[in-house]
Amino acid sequence: MTFIAVRCPHCQSDQIVKRGKTTRGTQRYLCQNTLCTKGSFLLDYCNRGCLPKVKHTINDMSLNASGVRDTARSLHICLNTVLCELKKKATVLESVNTALLRTLNPAEVAWDMERAGEAEVNEMWSFVGNKGNPRWLWHAIDHHTGKVFAYVCGRRKDKVFVQLKTLLGPFGLTRYCTDHWGAYTRHLDPDVHSPGKRNTQQIERKHLTFRTRMKRLVRKTICFSKTKQMHDLVIGLFVNRYAF
Ligand SMILES: [Zn+2]
Repeated sequence: MTFIAVRCPHCQSDQIVKRGKTTRGTQRYLCQNTLCTKGSFLLDYCNRGCLPKVKHTINDMSLNASGVRDTARSLHICLNTVLCELKKKATVLESVNTALLRTLNPAEVAWDMERAGEAEVNEMWSFVGNKGNPRWLWHAIDHHTGKVFAYVCGRRKDKVFVQLKTLLGPFGLTRYCTDHWGAYTRHLDPDVHSPGKRNTQQIERKHLTFRTRMKRLVRKTICFSKTKQMHDLVIGLFVNRYAF
């Protein structure tokens, strides 16, 4: 007789008990690990969309130059599964780099004022549905480390920049390097504002990375998001995972 130890696919725990059967007659198991986020699972899913590994791949693919339909085709799952899985992530998205904010030591910032608060701020064009419906990604990065401080998606309007400026408040920035777009001169104090192409090279380079890695941001493509929600979501997921 052979025994095969059952492990939880979510937390790898071996504290597993049987928990009845599904309507198809497949054995269901219950993970008794109190720290496990999932609890109930099957060993062989008929529905590939339920596999933890497939769910993980959905996220990875959308952040690596695949559209939602590419992902659905390559993973042999339904388009709706892809959309649902991505939408679930919306709850954990952050517009501000709170991890970086927590590490900011006020004493250190005061001591190293020159380096501490320099930001490059810029906006990047993209669209939702058609080109008559532009959507700009406004974000600010640390001039020295390249980490994104905060981001906002919206129109190319002053009010969106004001939103971003509010988010940047807690970082105690002392210099903003931007281009010559009017919104910056209107809302930034001339003492802390240095416009010009010389100091925005890093953020322009970051835009290139975004355009290479997210299908909906690629230039001269026919790929785009159909809804603002998905557009902002995928950009947000990318910034949260790779740029914070
Ligand atoms: Zn578990």
